[in-house]
Amino acid sequence: MKHVQDTGGLHRDTQAVRTAVAPSQYGENSEALYLSSSFTQPDCETAARRFAGEEDGYIYSRFTNPTVSSMEARLAALEGTEACIGTASGMAAILLLCMGVLKAGDHVVCSRSVFGSTIKLIGSEFAKFGVQSTFVSQTDVSEWERALQPNTKLLFAETPTNPLTDVCDIRALADVAHGIGALLAVDNCFCSPALQRPASMGADVVIHSGTKYLDGQGRVIAGALCGTKDLIQSKLIPVMRSAGMSLSPFNAWVVLKGMETLGIRMEAQSARALALAQWLETHPAVERVYYPGLKSHPQHELAMRQQSGMGGAVLSFDVEGSISAEARARAFHVIDSTQLMSVSANLGDVKTIITHPASTSHGRLTEAQRSDAGIRQNLVRVAVGLEHIDDLKADLLRGLDTLT
Ligand SMILES: *Cc1c(COP(=O)(O)O)cnc(C)c1O
Repeated sequence: MKHVQDTGGLHRDTQAVRTAVAPSQYGENSEALYLSSSFTQPDCETAARRFAGEEDGYIYSRFTNPTVSSMEARLAALEGTEACIGTASGMAAILLLCMGVLKAGDHVVCSRSVFGSTIKLIGSEFAKFGVQSTFVSQTDVSEWERALQPNTKLLFAETPTNPLTDVCDIRALADVAHGIGALLAVDNCFCSPALQRPASMGADVVIHSGTKYLDGQGRVIAGALCGTKDLIQSKLIPVMRSAGMSLSPFNAWVVLKGMETLGIRMEAQSARALALAQWLETHPAVERVYYPGLKSHPQHELAMRQQSGMGGAVLSFDVEGSISAEARARAFHVIDSTQLMSVSANLGDVKTIITHPASTSHGRLTEAQRSDAGIRQNLVRVAVGLEHIDDLKADLLRGLDTLT
């Protein structure tokens, strides 16, 4: 990270709008978008020093770009880590992490409830290169301990999970990892640093899909890894330079501007999600609601401790009639009856999104895998946005009140 203005010691709300590289000679108040693939060098000696890493300076946007540096500096400030590296997508971040810290013969322990593509990447793609993995319970720390091997190098967690919002204990998993000298990586996509800062609880690497709450308005694909300077500079930047899963400056700029409103969006969207979850719990056509902000949630107290007292913006619910042959049709009826919510599989947008996980995000699993994961045909997920709560309730009532 180069020429970053010093905002250390300021509050996170301030850093969210102020941390960036220094403005250009024109004094732009909104950070500039540097759409340039390469940067000119003042002379050959300087160029040689910059290419050798002996002097800071921008070279080529595959691994150095001022707009990307601004986004990285701001996200590192929010996560409370020394450094950050932007990537082309959330999956590119996980790819970069695995390429940077693993080699053939190493072993990974991962929650079996993490994002589906993460399971495929670690469990299938990296298996081709000789990396072993064991998938364990999201919530039972003793399963993680039992899965450890002498060659375990990485523990990988995500909390809360999609779509059932199960919460794992970051501090406890960090202790397990550090006990054998392994790293703990936490995918912080669902909470964002506005609610949860895994590094403050012992995580060594924090993973982001910038596509979700960091952008916050559903515009771009982006990702990032946050961690120590040593990890980023010695293990990750060299891989980025060789493999090129680089973040586009335009996408970095959108995420940079998105982070300015992250805190107030997460608070407002969490408040709406809590209100909607409490209301759904009282509706006779709803069998069960999954939301960490509810007292009925199995890890409610842990979630409140770990997530700044907020539940986040994603909730799920079982439409009444889980054992009926019509379970799927009943969920489809509720989703298809909405007129306001977006039927899509994304999340993290200010527009509320409603999803049927069993046929979309988790459609590639077998029925047995799905039922192990607790994702039934009557499950509906809502990623709550910024619409008025009464309009959201009315939209869900169209289907909930007309089930037969
Ligand atoms: C979306 C998502 C990802 C992948 O991010 P992309 O930007 O879509 O590549 C990873 N983890 C979680 C928890 C996600 O929700």
